[in-house]
Amino acid sequence: MTRRLGNGLERGQAPRIALLVAAIAAIFAVDTVTNYAIAAAVFYVAVILLATRWMRPRSVVILASACGTLTVISFTLTHSGLYEVGIINTGISLVAIAVTTYLSLKLVAAEAAIHDARERLTRIARVTSLGELTASIAHEVNQPLAAVMTSAGACRRWLATDPPNIEKAERAAERIAAEASRASEVIARVRGLASGKSPIRAAFDLGTLVEEIVGLARGQIDRNDILLRLYLPEDLPRVFGDRVQIGQVIGNLLLNAIDAVMADPARGHEIEVIASLTQDGSSVALEVADSGVGFREQEAERLFDAFWTTKQDGIGLGLTISRAIVEANGGRIWAEESELDGAALLFTLPVAPVDGEEETGA
Ligand code: ADP
Repeated sequence: MTRRLGNGLERGQAPRIALLVAAIAAIFAVDTVTNYAIAAAVFYVAVILLATRWMRPRSVVILASACGTLTVISFTLTHSGLYEVGIINTGISLVAIAVTTYLSLKLVAAEAAIHDARERLTRIARVTSLGELTASIAHEVNQPLAAVMTSAGACRRWLATDPPNIEKAERAAERIAAEASRASEVIARVRGLASGKSPIRAAFDLGTLVEEIVGLARGQIDRNDILLRLYLPEDLPRVFGDRVQIGQVIGNLLLNAIDAVMADPARGHEIEVIASLTQDGSSVALEVADSGVGFREQEAERLFDAFWTTKQDGIGLGLTISRAIVEANGGRIWAEESELDGAALLFTLPVAPVDGEEETGA
């Protein structure tokens, strides 16, 4: 968002306008004092090209008209050189100003149209996958609700017997409580995804965030005798994304890795977290590799499906939500076999632009 100042200009506009005015004044002076053979007015083209980046189309047209008028005034004030050459050069300058204004305004409009189309496509893609997700959620919440109904019927029947079978009625009530809490857990996990909050994207250091999240899971890691190795090079560039959301993703991957190594006590208890710059230098990749039970090759994509879980108390939303978050932040997430003989989950995030300005958006 650009902020407006009291004088009606946007922040950062005043120095730009001063620069344009100075450039116009300089071109006007040179065009007037030099002879007809020097078409200094052609340089108004550069002023117009700059203006199209900073100004609204209407202001650019006004500026271009002013440049044209100044070109004609310079011509009338100049008295040295061949008059015919002056007419030709003035004509060329006026045509150059008009054509540049027309083409650059068309270009800006085309860029805006591309931006709009891209936004619309992103929205459509999100709505489609949310539609699929909603169907899965409805199914997943319906199951415990159906079980609650069945157990409630049983509970009522055990209480209605003479004498009432309190023990069996109590067990049915426990099943009701367990199923109800499963349904509410599903809803709680989905709420984060469906809250529709736009990510607040800013530049941040991924390594520092990894250390913070590892700190939160430290108790669990030590209790289970897991050997955790971190490879977080200090010279990595900062990434651009929503720090809180990416923290959720890292926590998710770490907890999954802990679950995977604990699922088979016979396996080594090792987890590695490795950050690196991608080959083209445009992103930073984070890999969470473990020596756990791994997954079958054909399951690599299914891991990200909503409600796909192999755990007894799993929900199967962690990786679905992680994928939605990473993609909303301009990255990619996937699963591979790890060199530690278990699974490796990797995601990328774009490297932050140099000024790393804060921005919001989906
Ligand atoms: P949940 O943890 O509730 O099952 P997730 O979406 O986080 O949900 O994970 C889905 C499934 O992906 C898990 O049940 C498991 O089968 C598989 N998975 C995720 N991480 C790993 C891992 N590090 N190693 C092996 N399997 C994994």
